[in-house]
Amino acid sequence: MHLTRSLSCLPLLLAASLSAGAQAPASPGANPKLAALKAEAMRDIDSRAQFTQQFVDQVFSFGELGFQEFETSKYITGILKQNGFTVREGVAGIPTAWVATWGSGKPVIALGSDLDGIPQASQIPGVACHLPLVQGAPGHGEGHNSGQAVNITAALAIKNIMQREHLSGTLKIWPGVAEEQLGSKAYLVRDGVFKDVDVVLFSHVGSNLQTGWGAEQGSGLVSVLYSFEGQAAHAAGAPWRGRSALDAVELMDVGWNFRREHLRLQTRSHYVIRNGGDQPNVVPPTAAVWYYFRELDFKKIKELWAIGDSVALGAAMMTGTRLASERVLGSAWPGHFNRPIAEDMTDNIKLVGLPKWTAADQRFARAIQKEVKGDTTGLDTAVAKLEGDLPDSLNMGGGSDDIGDISWNAPTIVLLYPSNVPNLPGHHWSDAIAMATPIAHKGATAGAKAQALTMLDILLKPGLVDSAWSYFRNVQTKTVKYEPLMRPEDRPATELNAEILARYRPEMKKFYYDPKKFPTYLQQLGIAYPTLRKADGSCAATPNTLQ
Ligand SMILES: [Zn+2]
Repeated sequence: MHLTRSLSCLPLLLAASLSAGAQAPASPGANPKLAALKAEAMRDIDSRAQFTQQFVDQVFSFGELGFQEFETSKYITGILKQNGFTVREGVAGIPTAWVATWGSGKPVIALGSDLDGIPQASQIPGVACHLPLVQGAPGHGEGHNSGQAVNITAALAIKNIMQREHLSGTLKIWPGVAEEQLGSKAYLVRDGVFKDVDVVLFSHVGSNLQTGWGAEQGSGLVSVLYSFEGQAAHAAGAPWRGRSALDAVELMDVGWNFRREHLRLQTRSHYVIRNGGDQPNVVPPTAAVWYYFRELDFKKIKELWAIGDSVALGAAMMTGTRLASERVLGSAWPGHFNRPIAEDMTDNIKLVGLPKWTAADQRFARAIQKEVKGDTTGLDTAVAKLEGDLPDSLNMGGGSDDIGDISWNAPTIVLLYPSNVPNLPGHHWSDAIAMATPIAHKGATAGAKAQALTMLDILLKPGLVDSAWSYFRNVQTKTVKYEPLMRPEDRPATELNAEILARYRPEMKKFYYDPKKFPTYLQQLGIAYPTLRKADGSCAATPNTLQ
């Protein structure tokens, strides 16, 4: 947990540095020097638009799945090292996790964002219909290719200002590895990455510029792989000598689906069969099923998990097999986000505003929405409001993000920035279409500005960090204390997705973006933006550039 903040010398330092270049503030709250630095940071970020764009495009082209973000992490840590950050790699026993640090002293600002893609979401960007770049391959069907560009663009702008103004403070940049598996953030917490952190600013792709505080719509979860062992036999010649592990998996699933009727309405759960045997004439000696158990708080998640265990044991008994192992592959606390920081961010969001969308951007967005039968509202043109705390009674559950674990260890907010199109299904190829186009690029620049302005407030506004901690200690964690969902013996499931990448990477490599040759990834692929369905209904990328 966070160490008590020693009496901060920041306000004193600030007073000293501000008195040199600025008039005394006209009123409490108004700070001309801070306002000037914010204007400077926004100009600086605009001047980095090409850096941001190429970063977004580069990571898009890697399209790596959770725990296999090797190219992505190599690229990002390379940029950070070039810019004077000290990078610790292999954090928490995860080969693709790292922590990059620059600066010294308080406050410590941690900037995080996810890296990983979605299975079977390969998609040619800029074309408003389903056209995989590599058939069957993973891709950025959520938009996690953009968040590190948001954070690092902001960090580089603020680092310049900190150097020139001799501001005390430490920037800590870290990745959300395998977010889709809820696979890493609780391990980063266990590794102590957030022990000295004052504020965590997390960024996540969205379709508006927005943040929130308190509990949000959604669930926490534990992700568990149940493996059964039976007895192989000739499935026709001597089936009585076999005990099918697949039977155990199927009966566990049937049992769970009956039990589902008698669970709270807020519960969500789903499973995939990871191993169903090898071939029909061999009674499967091994089989495995992977469950996500989602509920609204730690205790209820544990209770749901215990029901899952009992159903698994029942299935093993019924089939004369054995529940051989139960592996936790991921976990996520339900998030709770910091009110003072979210309110501060919201003021900055108003200064930044949404990107200026062109008619082409809007036409393109509507075409994608139409393609997936979403509401054809186009891109948002008004900044969304600050989302407040959602009481449990109104939370019907939903998705999860392991940023939740971090949010219970240090004051945290999630900035959503408008790099993607609203009304898409999520975790889908259509969510990848805009993610290497001007929509994603402009959205990332807007996100970087909101992040940077809030970093300036954290560095320069006396009392903001203290208010954040006061909310964290006296409101958020007053009655709820963090304890990890994963067990002490659990380890990151770093082998996940390795086989998929081994299968597709050779083909995917052919489409890695080369910014030395092409200013944009769309240009490298030879895609005219936007490419829409033609009047005759056909939809095709420009031929001859894509074999
Ligand atoms: Zn995500």
